[in-house]
Amino acid sequence: MNTRLDGRVVLVTGASSGIGEATALALSAEGARVAAGARRADRLESLARKAPGEVLALELDVTDQESVRAAVAKTVERFGGLDILVNNAGLMLNSLIVGADTTEWTRMVETNLLGSMYTVHAALPHLLERKGTILQVSSTSGRIASAYSGVYAATKFGIAAFSESLRQEVTTQGVRVVVIEPGFVATELTSHITDPTMQAAAQEMAASMRTLQPDDIANAVVYAVTQPEHVAVNEILIRPTDQT
Ligand code: NDP
Repeated sequence: MNTRLDGRVVLVTGASSGIGEATALALSAEGARVAAGARRADRLESLARKAPGEVLALELDVTDQESVRAAVAKTVERFGGLDILVNNAGLMLNSLIVGADTTEWTRMVETNLLGSMYTVHAALPHLLERKGTILQVSSTSGRIASAYSGVYAATKFGIAAFSESLRQEVTTQGVRVVVIEPGFVATELTSHITDPTMQAAAQEMAASMRTLQPDDIANAVVYAVTQPEHVAVNEILIRPTDQT
């Protein structure tokens, strides 16, 4: 087991699958004490069993401010503080704009954008205290919008704007803000798409390339959080080589 993050306290949202799960495991392998939050408690329990270090499984719904505040409080109560927030929970429901089911827009904005902001709001006092690091999981869709993912892209562009504002507010107080922008990663993300045409398109896209794996993003997170204190890795854009 490595010790680069020995004793550091990390909160990962969306840790029950995909990028969040891989990141929680990678940070645990570096010696961090990890609070792993998501709605599927059973998946978090199995993550806790797999992890090399101590993991606190936290049932968390990022769209609910009370739930977010409680998760941060439980993390601090258990581990005595908070050093790193991996703000990762998210949802992608691709569709046409015309005739879209706007309840899906609401879910994406509430989860990806507001949920991510609520988590920063609740965690920030503790991160300021420890001169911590915030990793904001955005997307290539946070840099380039494309057809059929307008609302998802809007939430990820929103994360970029919020993160830059946050960075300017806290960097001189020693808190680092990192925006991670993955391209196509093989996870459960596309499985939630309800439109059959969009679902088929996502599967076709996955089959057309060597996609990234969750560990590829976890490695980027580990890189960012193991730099010396005076180095702020502000942005990491990471695509599959085969993705245009
Ligand atoms: P997954 O679907 O595997 O993971 C999404 C995670 O978010 C799950 O752990 C899920 O847990 C959690 N989540 C969803 N809604 C909520 C909620 N309301 N409260 C708490 N947790 C929630 O997909 P990925 O790992 O791919 O996605 C992780 C992040 O990476 C997302 O922000 C996504 O936008 C981003 N991303 C993914 C890319 C990809 O190609 N896969 C590319 C670029 C960015 P649960 O359902 O148990 O609550």
